[in-house]
Amino acid sequence: MTRLRVTEHIVVNIHRRSLCDNCVVRDCISLHGTRVFDCPGFKPYFEVFIQCRNCGEYYSPYTVLSFPDLGLCLKCNGLLMGDSHYYK
Ligand SMILES: [Zn+2]
Repeated sequence: MTRLRVTEHIVVNIHRRSLCDNCVVRDCISLHGTRVFDCPGFKPYFEVFIQCRNCGEYYSPYTVLSFPDLGLCLKCNGLLMGDSHYYK
């Protein structure tokens, strides 16, 4: 679990194992027990957007759950790992 500071007074806990650990949807049978990093039905407890410390773009930290750095957007995490190497 990662504690992510959103504003000066707001901190959210983000589980990095799977999107399902951060999702309010119950009885989602299709994805149960697997590590999920992309789901059309995903609904987080708190909708948060943070600013990438590299490029300044705003993004949802849930889109980069499987990447090494939650403080960087999808593009900058991809650059960190080499352009074509995205892992999940
Ligand atoms: Zn960025």
